[in-house]
Amino acid sequence: MTDVHLDGVTKEYAGSTALSELSLHVEDGEFFTLVGPSGCGKTTTLRLLAGFESPTEGRVRFGDDDVAGVPPEDRRVGVVFQNYALFPHMSVAENVAYGLRFSEPPDGQSKAARVADLLDLVDLSGMGEREPDALSGGQQQRVAIARALAPGPHLLLLDEPMSALDARLRERLRVQVKELQSDLGVTTVYVTHDQEEALAVSDRVAVLHDGRLEQVGTPRDVYRRPATRFVAEFVGDNNVFEGEVVDSAVADTGTATPTTAHDTSVSPLETKEVTVRVNGTRFALAAEPAADEAESADARSVSAGDTLTFCVRPEHLRLGTARERGDDSWNRFEATVASAEFLGERTRVHLDWDGTPVTVRLDAFEGEPGDRVTVGFDADATRLLD
Ligand code: ATP
Repeated sequence: MTDVHLDGVTKEYAGSTALSELSLHVEDGEFFTLVGPSGCGKTTTLRLLAGFESPTEGRVRFGDDDVAGVPPEDRRVGVVFQNYALFPHMSVAENVAYGLRFSEPPDGQSKAARVADLLDLVDLSGMGEREPDALSGGQQQRVAIARALAPGPHLLLLDEPMSALDARLRERLRVQVKELQSDLGVTTVYVTHDQEEALAVSDRVAVLHDGRLEQVGTPRDVYRRPATRFVAEFVGDNNVFEGEVVDSAVADTGTATPTTAHDTSVSPLETKEVTVRVNGTRFALAAEPAADEAESADARSVSAGDTLTFCVRPEHLRLGTARERGDDSWNRFEATVASAEFLGERTRVHLDWDGTPVTVRLDAFEGEPGDRVTVGFDADATRLLD
């Protein structure tokens, strides 16, 4: 198999920049996902890897080899598109065999044996003689995957392969694709605009925005430690607040040292607690040092008077009085219930906090629009953003 590098890749089309200085490393055997809103450059990245496009600047490398000038058919890359692109007049087996038009099957197998193996792999044994029209959308997409895998590619590229399927089928197929990829160990770059899908299937995720990389990390990293406001808002539900820093204190001296007018900066690794005022209410935020200092605002010096952006996930907000929680130390504010969405195993409650919308995720909620509620959250549940 192979690992893949994009080194400072810029791609310009007449009048527009699709990618700006994008650098990524996809590890050998990894399930790596590019996620981001429409137009952020996901498909362009995939086309550069496939060899359908060349970078305007920068390099694409497979292992140590610069692949500039290597045509798509010589890259050992399998590509699956959103719309399956199956030939309607060919049988399922012929469609899969089409994947072998440029190369012999790996391991000296006959073409027929290879096709039978692949149909078995994607759970379509016995369907080789059918025409694609006689298959469901999910089955058609599995044929397309089998065709892409036929020549034994070193790199598998999947461009929104589930987006034409209904929600239930999409969830089933993504589990199958993930299992297949992990059995084969083929390095995979997957493109989706669906952040939930990205979190569910990937070893690592790269979040793109306007042709630039916002963050790369494991699904847990990107969800729990968003590096930027864009990532915080794009990946999962989130509440992003902006406030003014009132105080920042160093905790590792044992005694909190408030900032003063003459000494307002706190060195990054020492910053432990920041007091911030939002909508006239003071909150204590934990500013843990980031693993990667460049990664987030946690590592930045924070001074009194700064504007600070932070987020709290809806599942980390609680409703109820401080007394009911038996804990007076939580941050809290008063808000009004605007609406509630019952989603089965959970309820999403929308609140109005003096004009600021706030979302809370609860297992159950019995309140009504117009109710006044106390919202609480722990200092540790917050994440400072750039
Ligand atoms: P989507 O999710 O909608 O498919 P995407 O993230 O895959 O979007 P790209 O298709 O990579 O985005 O496009 C990135 C930017 O480059 C867009 O602004 C798009 O309009 C532009 N672009 C893509 N292909 C071309 C082209 N052939 N000529 C001119 N501009 C292009």
